[in-house]
Amino acid sequence: GILNFCANNYLGLSSHPEVIRAAVEALEKFGAGLSSVRFICGTQSIHKDLEEKIARFHQREDAILYASCFDANAGIFEALLTPEDAVLSDELNHASIIDGIRLCKANKYRYKHMDMQDLEAKLQDAQKHRLRLVATDGAFSMDGDIAPLREICQLAQKYDALVFIDECHATGFLGPNGRGTDELLGVMDKVTIINSTLGKALGGAAGGYTTGPKPLIDLLRQRSRPYLFSNSLPPAVVGCASKALDLLMESNAIAQSMAAKTQRFRSKMTAAGFTISGKDHPICPVMLGDARLAAVMAEDMLNRGIYVIGFSYPVVPKGKARIRVQISAVHSDEDIDRCVEAFTEVGRKHGALP
Ligand code: PLP
Repeated sequence: GILNFCANNYLGLSSHPEVIRAAVEALEKFGAGLSSVRFICGTQSIHKDLEEKIARFHQREDAILYASCFDANAGIFEALLTPEDAVLSDELNHASIIDGIRLCKANKYRYKHMDMQDLEAKLQDAQKHRLRLVATDGAFSMDGDIAPLREICQLAQKYDALVFIDECHATGFLGPNGRGTDELLGVMDKVTIINSTLGKALGGAAGGYTTGPKPLIDLLRQRSRPYLFSNSLPPAVVGCASKALDLLMESNAIAQSMAAKTQRFRSKMTAAGFTISGKDHPICPVMLGDARLAAVMAEDMLNRGIYVIGFSYPVVPKGKARIRVQISAVHSDEDIDRCVEAFTEVGRKHGALP
């Protein structure tokens, strides 16, 4: 009887009967696992098919699978960038991007969160380097805000830089066909590299990937350490993701329904007097400020059958505690309304609302 409002299951595909069936079929036909990395005996037809499907979904030339997007982010910067190059990274990028950048020997620039003036200044400074790569989350998971990709791509063009985006919180549902932030903002042909996960909207099991130009993917197959030295994705996991992509390529109805529910939640919560960070994204952080308030409210929400979690320092800055609500296509309108009602009651009880 408890409603989950804190999963990255944006499209509800992790419990979709066809996705589950595809996993079972893959398990039966292709086995439990490969006991190998990809380049030894860890590649089956389904791995190649999934890579081809991912590239087609994103309208890119090729794709490469990893055990996780954390691995995809750990593998790309070191393989691509040399000490003669530069990487320019948003200060609030995901930990895995930060770690991936730490592993490479390129010159590092950190620009202020979504601040285009600062990015431009850093790009000017980075002109002395051989190659420039701007790296940003497409959608930022703590605040539900979306990177200004149009402006980023314009600056990248002006200063001859490549653009990399992490689409973990965008793939499958942002944009009219769920292709992601680049589709939403009309820059699919301007973003060079996409990293994303199979562990959130695309079935929620596990796995990650890079998609982009074929020479880049060829390079990663030769040089990317998490790809070369870590086990191949298990068939059941490949089966889930592959079916999730089929469903999304057949119709954009699921992605659209999630957008309508996000809108319902955001507008009702705002009308009730709450401050919701971000805009038009299913990550809806209910801003509370105080860490203890966030914790006790989350606990009380659970008593009312709504599963949400309070986030406080060090996960978010001090004084910016929140309850991060995540909307899914499987929430009904009634579920959303039940969540808003519970927030309103609990908010009044604990003084977050008048
Ligand atoms: N990048 C972002 C923005 C994420 O939110 C996450 C997951 O939390 C990852 C990368 C890592 O993805 P995975 O769980 O596939 O390793």
